[in-house]
Amino acid sequence: MLKKVNHIGIAVKDLDVAIEFYKKLGLEVEAIETVESQNVKVAFIPLGEVRIELLEASTEDSPIAKFIAKKGEGIHHVAFGTEDLISILKHAESKDIQLIDKVPRKGAHNAEIAFLHPNSTHGVLLELCEEKT
Ligand code: ZN
Repeated sequence: MLKKVNHIGIAVKDLDVAIEFYKKLGLEVEAIETVESQNVKVAFIPLGEVRIELLEASTEDSPIAKFIAKKGEGIHHVAFGTEDLISILKHAESKDIQLIDKVPRKGAHNAEIAFLHPNSTHGVLLELCEEKT
């Protein structure tokens, strides 16, 4: 079941510079971590129930580096918080929704995540994200 918008992922060239912008708006960084599997450095900024997830490439071949080279900085993905991610993926596949991840993988924040392909989602990279408590 999809629960809510969990976070909005924004690709940035320089995490520190981007963080300064959000600080000017009065927001605070909750955590910064590197997700090795995706070659990104991530900063989480809580905003009510939603987080802003700032993503900086940690390697040249990072998906974020490719995204910025192609489109520049900006919204990279929207993440829906879920329960029971595995059955949602099965359901999505049965409805002919194109999956990037057929099985969940480890994301930031110790969450299980999976992406749906923008070809199926009207142009938005959609992340499904199940937080483990
Ligand atoms: Zn995300």
